[in-house]
Amino acid sequence: MDSALEKEINNLQEFLDASTSPFHAINNVKELLVGHGFSEVPGHDNWDSRTNRNFFIRDGSIVAWVEADNLPFENGFRILGAHTDSPNLRLKPLQLLSSNTFGQLSVETYGSPLLNSWLDRDLGISGRVIVEGDPFAQVLFSSNGAICRIPQLAIHLDRDVNKKGLKLNAETHLAPIWTDLPADSLAFNEWIADQLSISSRKILSWDLMLHDAQESTILGANEEWLVSGRIDNLVSCYAAITALSDFDVSNSETIPLVCLFDHEEVGSVSSVGASGNFLSTVINRIMSGCSSESRAVAFEKSFCASVDGAHATHPNYPERHDLNHIVKLNEGIVIKRNANQRYATDGIGEAFSKKICVNSEIPFQIFANRSDLSCGSTIGPTTAASLGVRTIDIGVPQLSMHSAREICGVEDQHHLRTFCQSFFSS
Ligand code: ZN
Repeated sequence: MDSALEKEINNLQEFLDASTSPFHAINNVKELLVGHGFSEVPGHDNWDSRTNRNFFIRDGSIVAWVEADNLPFENGFRILGAHTDSPNLRLKPLQLLSSNTFGQLSVETYGSPLLNSWLDRDLGISGRVIVEGDPFAQVLFSSNGAICRIPQLAIHLDRDVNKKGLKLNAETHLAPIWTDLPADSLAFNEWIADQLSISSRKILSWDLMLHDAQESTILGANEEWLVSGRIDNLVSCYAAITALSDFDVSNSETIPLVCLFDHEEVGSVSSVGASGNFLSTVINRIMSGCSSESRAVAFEKSFCASVDGAHATHPNYPERHDLNHIVKLNEGIVIKRNANQRYATDGIGEAFSKKICVNSEIPFQIFANRSDLSCGSTIGPTTAASLGVRTIDIGVPQLSMHSAREICGVEDQHHLRTFCQSFFSS
């Protein structure tokens, strides 16, 4: 690996390791943007006195954009969209679970995690804690290293597991052990309060989740793969936001904008999800002095790229893939097509994406799902529907999608970043 790529991948690993929840991802994105001269605009006040480099945060979602005095909004936007959430296990509001032998945590699944990947893994806890304030405040929380584990049943007590497959009940089999003590002698609230150095009476609620405490790593005979939790979709978030923060708008003909949404893994229907009005409201506020006709013209001239993970062809399961559309790690970004609009790319979008790749010397591959398997989706179709903006679906290929630990190619993340930069000036 050359030193420039190594530096890039190290920065990405730092972001992945530190972004253990959507709230941490947003905070890390915020720090990166502030370091590049961006300012946060307030939700509860008008944006008349904003600068040219701005961002707006609501919970686990963010919109960031760059304006220029000689760049009219009517020229349209180049919108890069991705999601900050990943499938995982989330803590329920009351933590009273106790067996005869252990204090345990009550959890529920978020999205569609590969449940087996969470077993026998050293797990940390992270997210946000809501505390007393005026009327309340949120505090980021991340446990210092691993704190709990979901132990798999020994094979001696489940002799057929390798032949019949592992069946896990989400209510009864996934509760992590976190202490030898029964629940009432080490109340979870007390533990969290102790970690935050506050009184437990100040804790009102939380949005907490489990994460793999093992840091990301590089592997392969030639250091060709990145292994980490949350590759889907923090690799895309990082590529999009670094492309924006480095982008020189002085020669641009359109407004570059990045929107990172929470709640994609659970359908995007929320006040901060891609199916809601979060992004359109922000764009309306950006264009508050413009006529509705100007807004319509801007949307007509805009393009959106939904950046999300793509399935590489699995070497052990070739029968699960359309082998006319083979996708390999480190062979370039993936342009995703699906006639049923599970991906938003149409023929024009594919041509547009290929042009960017050819002009910027970015290798690319085309993905189509097997026709007899149901296809995944992204924020692409829902963003296209809510804005009425032509949209493409692209991303880096990966294996083990929705595992607690996924794998992608170190070169593909670089190609994705180059694509994001080129997209802004396309
Ligand atoms: Zn995704």
